[in-house]
Amino acid sequence: MSKKLTTRAEDYSKWYNELVVKADLAENSGVRGCMVIKPYGYAIWEKMQAELDRMFKETGHENAYFPLFVPKSLFEAEEKNAEGFAKECAVVTHYRLKSDEENKGKLIVDPEAKLEEELVVRPTSEAIIWNTYKNWIESYRDLPILVNQWANVVRWEMRTRLFLRTAEFLWQEGHTAHATKQEAITEAEQMMNIYAEFAENFMAVPVVKGLKTEAERFAGADETYCIEALMQDGKALQAGTSHFLGQNFAKAFDVKYTTKEGKQEHVWATSWGVSTRLMGALIMTHSDDSGLVLPPKLAPIQVVIVPIYKGMEQLDAIRERVTPYIKELRAKGFSVKFDDRDTHKPGWKFNEYELKGVPVRIAIGKRDLENGTFEVARRDTFEKQSVGGDDLVQLIENLLEEIQENIYKKAFDYRANHITEVNSFEEFKDVLENKGGFVSAHWDGTTETEEKIQELTKATIRCIPLDAKEEEGVCVFSGKTSSKRVLFAKAY
Ligand code: AMP
Repeated sequence: MSKKLTTRAEDYSKWYNELVVKADLAENSGVRGCMVIKPYGYAIWEKMQAELDRMFKETGHENAYFPLFVPKSLFEAEEKNAEGFAKECAVVTHYRLKSDEENKGKLIVDPEAKLEEELVVRPTSEAIIWNTYKNWIESYRDLPILVNQWANVVRWEMRTRLFLRTAEFLWQEGHTAHATKQEAITEAEQMMNIYAEFAENFMAVPVVKGLKTEAERFAGADETYCIEALMQDGKALQAGTSHFLGQNFAKAFDVKYTTKEGKQEHVWATSWGVSTRLMGALIMTHSDDSGLVLPPKLAPIQVVIVPIYKGMEQLDAIRERVTPYIKELRAKGFSVKFDDRDTHKPGWKFNEYELKGVPVRIAIGKRDLENGTFEVARRDTFEKQSVGGDDLVQLIENLLEEIQENIYKKAFDYRANHITEVNSFEEFKDVLENKGGFVSAHWDGTTETEEKIQELTKATIRCIPLDAKEEEGVCVFSGKTSSKRVLFAKAY
């Protein structure tokens, strides 16, 4: 397969699909809508998991695991949640196959092995978890419960794309139970803030924090907080959500606690999740026509060393020269790969590591051996410099920090240039068609207007930003009064 990518300008969508496959991140599988995450892609996901997991634990959460299947009667209990997810549910009806005498070698579903009650493959786990919490909670002393689970879920999506929208995806889902409404709201806000911090500090992806409108809210939630990111083609991506669930699940599953005063009250809830979609956000935000650009904090290989040599003697000399630096860098916690494979030429390796987004590449050849130098190249700007051994480790440390900051700044500037305030529907359509990005506009607060705008332009309200200023205005569509601007965009 040719390693050359379609460019973003030629076809952004094709560029993305090719990049995911060529950079060895993931590929389509034999199951419709489900992907295989390959080792290089999984290594990035593991780094994301590790950081998020640390942040969850630092804020008092613990991990647990709940079943993959939800009996239909439990799934139905919270009506809005059930209705919202019904169309995307995979359902298990039988528990056995048998061989068919008519068609040798074929298996059929055994009609005698029909389940008494169908099992829904979890699209999200509120139902099974709240049915469990019922047994864990009696009094105020049992609260709060702060639990997270790392799991897979299934949503039978019709139009799927690697990482961004798949039928099965990996995620974490936090499910917390609280004594008071305020405590639950604070928790939901805290988790949105953690997601934003992770996106910005680790993924180097700037995000807008906001609230979803009623139409876009999680089924079964009273309020959905979200972080929204902007991709390089001007389309938005919902990168994470945190829900204030009110007492909806507590009421559906009859989860009450005895207060200090001896009264019986329903428990307050939150749930929050980010998924392998974050991989898509990471790829689409930073990468270029040469391949992936990874933030150093999440790159599985941060520094690659490519020897340029003729014969084993030179390779041995290079190995001897680089070994102490590799040791020093690893001792400082950096991941370093010395690619001394004899099966590929240096030029091939350069392309390969460019495609895979390795932040820093060191090349060392015969001339460098003689001069005591190294050629250091950074992936984000392609800049190269020659450096002596005494300065190498410090330079690399600085470079990794600089790259992390630089790609964040680049993404931040792009987004800043792609939030456009408009004051008429003509302007709204014009910006959406010709520029893309977030369109900041007044909206009258009704679902009716939101739906009409979507019908006409394909843009949805991504969020009501938490930092939106109070401002007198009129809805760009209906002309009715409005007190703040919301962000519209076409979205993935
Ligand atoms: P939700 O439970 O709908 O609030 O979604 C939780 C998280 O999973 C959000 O960050 C979504 O962006 C993400 N997500 C939802 N559906 C999919 C999907 N089909 N594939 C990948 N990620 C998804």
